[in-house]
Amino acid sequence: MNTRNKTSRKKPDTSGSPDGVLYVVSTPIGNLEDITLRALRILKESDYVAAEDTRRTGMLLKHFGISKPLLSCYRFNEAKRSTHLIDLLGQGKSIALVSDAGTPAISDPGARVVQCTLNAGYRVECIPGPCALIAALTTAGLPTDEFHFIGFLPNRSAPRKRKLVSLLDIPGTLVCYESRYRIEKLLDELIEIMPNHRVAIGREITKMHEQFIRGSAMEVKEQLSSGSSKGEFVVVVAPPSKQKNATDPNQD
Ligand code: SAM
Repeated sequence: MNTRNKTSRKKPDTSGSPDGVLYVVSTPIGNLEDITLRALRILKESDYVAAEDTRRTGMLLKHFGISKPLLSCYRFNEAKRSTHLIDLLGQGKSIALVSDAGTPAISDPGARVVQCTLNAGYRVECIPGPCALIAALTTAGLPTDEFHFIGFLPNRSAPRKRKLVSLLDIPGTLVCYESRYRIEKLLDELIEIMPNHRVAIGREITKMHEQFIRGSAMEVKEQLSSGSSKGEFVVVVAPPSKQKNATDPNQD
């Protein structure tokens, strides 16, 4: 059986012309000062920018005085677009891949383009930078030595609860993304399923109204309910066995 992705292809013979490179470029999750010098250089030097939302990335590029041909690359065209991007790489073009904010391929499009590019024999380079997962985890004050990222939980109640129950046996810290519409629901679920775990939520990280709330799920919910629950959230949940030593979050 042929298990290769439909969009994977043999690298064409382009003797003489240098191969293109796919750059996976992280962009700010709020504060534009978080763009890296290398990200700016790569965005300036690349032949194309493949973006989840060309309008949004166009505004980001404009802010930094960069003008570049933009190609849309979002969840529903990623497979088809990968074929096109590989053709461009074969012509020696370099492509910067970005998502709306943060690191591509982390709860965002990108993983498929990377896989197809590697399958086709082209080079992929990482231009690391902002990522809400890492920003929240490193600021939460919870153990960081081992962690498990689950992206977004399912929307519907029953699969959400099943997923959370299945995570009770995971030894590391849990990290997930949550929308403003379900953050209170998630805290209620944590109160029910993980009442004794320490929790930290990061809201609007790097933005003007950045806020971290730490405590048990019950304490976090009380504090959140007394203010606004607008914005974007990352939820970090400590494993039960790592709660003993408050001075060293990585100590058992
Ligand atoms: N690829 C992105 C990254 O590297 O963080 C994540 C994209 S995912 C579609 C968007 C989710 O990330 C939001 O719903 C929220 O849960 C989280 N997020 C993104 N930016 C955030 C911020 N500034 N503060 C808190 N959470 C954020």
